[in-house]
Amino acid sequence: MTEIDLAELIRDVPDFPSAGIVFKDVMPLLADPAAFRETIDRLAAWAGPRTPDIILGAEARGFIFGGALAYALGCGFVAARKPGKLPWKTVEATYALEYGTDSLQVHADAVAEGTRVIVLDDVLATGGTAKAKVDLVEQLGGTVVGALFVIELTFLHGRERLSGYDVHALIAV
Ligand code: AMP
Repeated sequence: MTEIDLAELIRDVPDFPSAGIVFKDVMPLLADPAAFRETIDRLAAWAGPRTPDIILGAEARGFIFGGALAYALGCGFVAARKPGKLPWKTVEATYALEYGTDSLQVHADAVAEGTRVIVLDDVLATGGTAKAKVDLVEQLGGTVVGALFVIELTFLHGRERLSGYDVHALIAV
């Protein structure tokens, strides 16, 4: 079976959401049944041997890939969300943006002590979001066994923020 070129189904949108940013739009990939399945299969091939108990993804695209990956692996899914969205007691991690800061929260009981967690997102850019997820897992006593992405923007050196962790992206640009 020939491999699908997943990169061909990721659309570059210049100057979105602001001037100078080239947005990696994964909607065409998600809408293509064979490519979506292959993406999840490839994520699972890397994640499976690391035997996670939980996949942790943030809104919104982290929910789509993360939910499907958790199903494929037979493990759980934990949602990281922007402040004020989760209904139960939460813990929070703050990370730097180009201007200012942002925060992510998870439920305080979402990651039990010793839980093996893979943090997942569609894009690794500066690594701030992924590092915040790592911090959330560790605040709750979990172990990050991998940081997994569909696309890595290598020129932003996000991996450096995640040094010491097992980092993988399906596509590097
Ligand atoms: P960062 O924290 O800088 O690594 O940014 C990663 C988060 O922002 C992820 O949730 C991505 O979905 C989103 N993101 C950052 N840059 C891009 C981009 N060029 N295209 C699409 N999403 C992006």
